[in-house]
Amino acid sequence: MLNLGVLILLYRELGKTKEKVSILGFGTMRLPTIKNNADIDKKEATEMLTYGIENGINLIDTAYPYHSKTLDGPGNSEGFIGNFLKENSYRDDVLISTKSPIWLVEKHQDFENYFEKQLKDLQTDYVDIYLLHSLNETDWEKIKELQVLDFLDDCLSSNKVKHVGFSSHMEIDYVIEILDEYPKWEVVLTQMNYLDEYYQSGVMGLDYLKEVNLGSMVMEPLRGGRLVQNIPPSVMELWDMAEKKRTPLQWALQYLFNRDDVHCVLSGMSSLEQVKENIRIASEIDIISDNDQELIREVAREYKTFTGNDCTRCGYCMPCPYGVDIINCLTEYNIAQMMGTPKASAMQYFTLIDDDSRADSCIRCMECEFICPQMLNIPDELEKVNEYFGDEFNHFR
Ligand code: SF4
Ligand code: SF4
Repeated sequence: MLNLGVLILLYRELGKTKEKVSILGFGTMRLPTIKNNADIDKKEATEMLTYGIENGINLIDTAYPYHSKTLDGPGNSEGFIGNFLKENSYRDDVLISTKSPIWLVEKHQDFENYFEKQLKDLQTDYVDIYLLHSLNETDWEKIKELQVLDFLDDCLSSNKVKHVGFSSHMEIDYVIEILDEYPKWEVVLTQMNYLDEYYQSGVMGLDYLKEVNLGSMVMEPLRGGRLVQNIPPSVMELWDMAEKKRTPLQWALQYLFNRDDVHCVLSGMSSLEQVKENIRIASEIDIISDNDQELIREVAREYKTFTGNDCTRCGYCMPCPYGVDIINCLTEYNIAQMMGTPKASAMQYFTLIDDDSRADSCIRCMECEFICPQMLNIPDELEKVNEYFGDEFNHFR
């Protein structure tokens, strides 16, 4: 294993895959760019990846649409990484994780066509981890009809893929249901950071993955950077009370590194400085004490005071007879308010929630009028959501 510096990155076994992975994985969705998102700054990105690999990162995560001009690709991340690995002879030093753009698939052959393009762009005969990208209930039903599992079987039997899995923003019940439908899943990528313990599959999902010995990778460790940028003064006051002082970045990463149900934290790094700092933190054994855990919970509670409404995601208002995904509409709005990330939340809002389930589908039938235990006037709240995401971010539709 390459390591030219003094830092020794920590490694974990990726569940039943038995692969030894660095606890810090290199996410390539936010590589530095020049003119626009598709125009990767190859010089700086090369320096970053070189430093990362030379200092022990052995998992690079990419996806078909990363660094595209549009939301759903094709992007330039896979092609850049393929060139980088080839030119620097690093292919054997890293595991490549990439993802199938399942939302683009219309017939069975499309799985194969996209995959072959990805192999070509990555300049490799195989990928180590192939994930169905951002799997949700609707896409799962569609791709099952298109025999996605036969495609995955073929990938495995031809050794073009070593391990299969999916990335997910789903709730725990649906994650388990999908896991139960195919015995060959080995890796799941979910969202996790100290604010999201009970969001999407959250800690219950990680617990389940551990129980069934699946590889567990996590994304959004810094909530799109918000846990380390523009930190509210009241949050900083809490961090300042800690017995052991850490930077907000150390708090966010060590919270995850201290969890034994997380095998690899994918960080979408944008500068060489970030790579260096993340590697430094991932090379420390820094125990989060019980008091630290309590402080982290207080910080999470403080962040949540900045939310746009009091929805607790209890689900009593669901299902809406007109198909509005009330919970996720209110949640994405809340996240935007709480984290100050309107653009990232708008992308989530328009990609995770179907056209017919967004806030503008509420017809004010008032069936949910007296249901909410938080006494929310749901149609009014949805109107706020629609106003917030509807105009400025229309281009994400
Ligand atoms: S008022 Fe809107 S959100 Fe509530 S049930 Fe009717 S359509 Fe659904
Ligand atoms: S009933 Fe109220 S608190 Fe519960 S999910 Fe619906 S809007 Fe949120």
